[in-house]
Amino acid sequence: METFDVIVIGGGSGLNVSSAASDEKKRVALIEPGPMGGTCLNRGCIPSKILIHSADVARIIQRSSLYGISAKITGIDFKKIIGDRASSRVDKEAKEIEEAISEDKYITLFKTKAFFTGNKTLQVGNKKIFGDKIVVAAGTRPSVPPVEGIHDVPYITSDEALRLKKLPKSMTVLGGGYIAAELADFYSALGTKITVIQRSDVMVKNEDAAIAKAFTKAFAKHNNVLTGHAVKKVEKKGKNIMTTAADAKGKEITVESEQLLVAAGRVPNTDVLQVDKTGVKMNKEGYVETNQYMETNVKHIWALGDIAGKYLFKHSANAEAKVVVQNAIYGKKVAVNYTAMPHAIFSSPQVAGVGERQQDLDARRADYAVGEYRYIDTGMGLALEDTEGFVRVYVDRKTLKILGCHILGTDASTAIHEVILAMRHGITAKQLVETIHIHPALSEVVQRACANLE
Ligand SMILES: Cc1cc2nc3c(=O)[nH]c(=O)nc-3n(C[C@H](O)[C@H](O)[C@H](O)COP(=O)(O)OP(=O)(O)OC[C@H]3O[C@@H](n4cnc5c(N)ncnc54)[C@H](O)[C@@H]3O)c2cc1C
Repeated sequence: METFDVIVIGGGSGLNVSSAASDEKKRVALIEPGPMGGTCLNRGCIPSKILIHSADVARIIQRSSLYGISAKITGIDFKKIIGDRASSRVDKEAKEIEEAISEDKYITLFKTKAFFTGNKTLQVGNKKIFGDKIVVAAGTRPSVPPVEGIHDVPYITSDEALRLKKLPKSMTVLGGGYIAAELADFYSALGTKITVIQRSDVMVKNEDAAIAKAFTKAFAKHNNVLTGHAVKKVEKKGKNIMTTAADAKGKEITVESEQLLVAAGRVPNTDVLQVDKTGVKMNKEGYVETNQYMETNVKHIWALGDIAGKYLFKHSANAEAKVVVQNAIYGKKVAVNYTAMPHAIFSSPQVAGVGERQQDLDARRADYAVGEYRYIDTGMGLALEDTEGFVRVYVDRKTLKILGCHILGTDASTAIHEVILAMRHGITAKQLVETIHIHPALSEVVQRACANLE
């Protein structure tokens, strides 16, 4: 049996750990059956944002008359958008990472799925390997809900939606979370007729209630949105797929479309990896339980990223990987600091959030003030003609510390950053307001929301 100082399972955020271990001249086994870079590079953040930028260009052209310009989309080179702009470039980067790893004399790369056979041993293809320290970074995969007929129709998940060969005429999307919203918005901007079917009353239901409501309304302007509907069954009709959903009263509706995109959340890969063989504790959804040092209950096993189930973002996975490097490789005891963990949805309109939502504050009966400001009431909002955008900020009445901030509108993912910094370092809403902002930059809308406390 081959033995290693460190085994890293998963070549996404796990790469941060394998390269640090190699720098320390440890004998490292890196296990990754797919392309290097994991979900973010190959099936997630990067390709989706490349595609969404093309969608943003399309939306600007569609809105061009608002700006006094007559422009029309006369053609869409889907192959260029999805192939040359996205897939080819991420494939190239993944290959370059793999080449660099194969030249690293401390790392042995196993290009196959692994599963645990004990708490220090793994089966990797036809080999058994042993590790003194093990880092579990095997991520999640799309979850497929148990809908009648689902396995008899050619559905796609986000993995395939980022690499379709042809622009579909119509697409039904099961789910209304952020992945559904981003992908549906991309296809919609290019001309695909979208129907989103979502069980709850709003799309992006994990957002602040006011944001989720406004987002759903904005999204429904371009798309058919069936909220409050549960999907009952799917079936093939010629080349198309018929999706039947029912509302709370049982009233059924059937939608016909060329593509069916299942975007109904993610499940951890702990089952395939047979983590149960290690004695590592998992929660009821199957995510690995870790403490603030990213340690599991088994002394020599750490976990990070999606599979640890705290936040399913690349930036949180990277922060956790840094902690694992310190603790597992350098033998330190560094805790992960999740203060002011932000997130964004890169659809049109964009959404970004940090900290508590109004529903969280109400649930804990916090004493808070709300500040709201509309994009259109600022100089840049007016220039952009952003009539939908707004910022909501929640501030502690006594300390004026910012408890949460939620934004819907142009470049929300960038505009949120000064609030992330403020929350992380205890800067109050008053201090943020007193800070001179560039006029009339978009960030004025955040400053004015903080100045506009009820
Ligand atoms: C469409 C989409 C868009 C996204 N957009 C964003 C975004 O804009 N911003 C953001 O922050 N996050 C985004 N995310 C989420 C982000 O991609 C993940 O949070 C992040 O990639 C998780 O990193 P990870 O290292 O934990 O897992 P992964 O990157 O998934 O890496 C896990 C690796 O483990 C491997 N593996 C699985 N099972 C085994 C096994 N049994 N043996 C060996 N290896 C195994 C897998 O092949 C995989 O490469 C997006 C996700 C999707 C799907």
